Amino acid sequence: MTAAGTFIPAFSQSQEQAGAGIPARGLAVYEEKGGFKPYEFSRHAVGDNDILIEILYAGICHSDLHHVFGDWGKEEYPMVPGHEIAGRVVQVGRNVKKFKVGDMAGVGCMVNSCGTCAECADGKEQYCRDVVLTYHDHDQFHGGEVTQGGYSDKIVVTEKFAARIPDGAQLEKVAPLLCAGITTYSPLHYAGVGKGDKVGVAGFGGLGHMAVQYAVALGAEVTVFDITEDKRADAGKMGAVHYVNVNNPEELKGLDGTLDFILSTIPASYDPAMYLKMLKRDGQLGIVGLPAFANMPRLSVSSLVFQGNRKVFGSQIGGMKETQEMLDYSVKNNIYPQVEVIRAEGKAVDEAYGNVADGKVRFRYVIDMKTLK
Ligand code: NDP
Ligand code: ZN
Repeated sequence: MTAAGTFIPAFSQSQEQAGAGIPARGLAVYEEKGGFKPYEFSRHAVGDNDILIEILYAGICHSDLHHVFGDWGKEEYPMVPGHEIAGRVVQVGRNVKKFKVGDMAGVGCMVNSCGTCAECADGKEQYCRDVVLTYHDHDQFHGGEVTQGGYSDKIVVTEKFAARIPDGAQLEKVAPLLCAGITTYSPLHYAGVGKGDKVGVAGFGGLGHMAVQYAVALGAEVTVFDITEDKRADAGKMGAVHYVNVNNPEELKGLDGTLDFILSTIPASYDPAMYLKMLKRDGQLGIVGLPAFANMPRLSVSSLVFQGNRKVFGSQIGGMKETQEMLDYSVKNNIYPQVEVIRAEGKAVDEAYGNVADGKVRFRYVIDMKTLK
């Protein structure tokens, strides 16, 4: 099945069958329980519109954990996760215009789309029915090959789905912008957040700490919601004015009807109605956090009617034009994730996964792919 749920026809090939590919190495999980181990596979050959990127850094997104552990349904293994990729262009196809060898390039959650539908025409490729995700997908433009992600040494991608990394960017910090950055930048702009708006960010992790920085840069007064005391000082340092530990009922008092926009990045079970109530009339609740299907939060019709004239919308990453805009803006304004760089070894990645699951990460792990053995 592709991301959009379409059946891949019988001529689909596995990567091994496709042949004539470029040998690649990475770290894969071989079963739902996790446990990263070395994996050798192949990337498809560099086509006329493709570039070959030597991957230097790959971020660990909570979505990677959801995929590895099968939170969103049955997955295929071996799986090389990773959709926050920064690296160097080492080969270009003959029609490539955007890149030359030696340029820095970033790849996020998608590597192709149909290019002709209304979503693609609108620059919203992430909503194309034929979008090909960077990993855990079947690439119908390459014979149905299984896509593998950024915890690897190289990737081949159509130039359209690679973003130019501006000169002077802090490369290890750029990788997470390709998912955590765009996924928060996009809904803040979609909602029209501006100067003086009162903005809530629920879930102060990899995505949440980017949302805080973008909202502060837009001139908003930011309130952070999380489940721990440990991050209160970090929120203040990033410019948030208020911090609410939602496990303390006292801190939730007086918040109803006070916020213009709330972005939920929460990856676990919670009550969206609590946040809906905090919105002013005409306020908006944007949702990007996607918990495991087994724990999916519900929002009842009665909540929507009783808190009338408030809007709720979901959002997925961002299109390629907006991704480039986000990258240029972030580098220019020195907006980066706070990262901890780890070695490309199974044990180190396993440990990082444990820390993300336990809420011990500050705020994003990035794997130094140059250390892959
Ligand atoms: P992180 O684990 O880095 O951050 C999640 C944060 O939410 C943590 O700080 C966590 O606290 C906090 N949290 C957990 N439960 C609650 C709660 N009940 N109330 C308030 N805060 C809570 O995850 P990411 O930021 O990487 O990803 C977040 C979610 O967004 C995931 O579900 C991911 O799959 C999804 N996602 C969606 C995308 C999209 O396009 N829509 C793109 C990328 C990710 P603690 O650390 O203490 O556990
Ligand atoms: Zn992600």
